[in-house]
Amino acid sequence: MKTCSKCKEYKSEDNFFKNKSNTSGLRGDCKVCSKKAHIKYLQNNPEKNREYSQTKYNKDPQKEKDRVLLWRQENKDKVNEYQKKWSELNREKYLIRMRDKNRGMHKKLPERYVVRKFFRGFENVPIELINLKRCQILLNRELRQMEQQA
Ligand SMILES: [Zn+2]
Repeated sequence: MKTCSKCKEYKSEDNFFKNKSNTSGLRGDCKVCSKKAHIKYLQNNPEKNREYSQTKYNKDPQKEKDRVLLWRQENKDKVNEYQKKWSELNREKYLIRMRDKNRGMHKKLPERYVVRKFFRGFENVPIELINLKRCQILLNRELRQMEQQA
């Protein structure tokens, strides 16, 4: 048991975050208080927060990507819930985003998109064939655009 340095409540150890630099190995304030403080800090310092993540990202982009990916995998429910809430609150933005996502996908024509769309059921489609298909799609697209403009 341990007393929180902020709310002065007497709580069990599992109510405190770990902190290796402390002699006790735990933070002085309880989880509830440190979460509150962290949120407040982020709200008061949106710039710093962004800077901080940017520096961390620049130092080791892959590590940060992995960290985020891992977090998302471990917190699928949270992510889903957040996305659901966000899409409900921002219906229009959400629809635009989905539309842009689809558009971007078509525009860039990634390998898996071409394979899924034109080589469904085939295995090990040679990259040359995929690239040819890409060219064909892009050519058709250009032609269609030219027709529309004419
Ligand atoms: Zn506390």
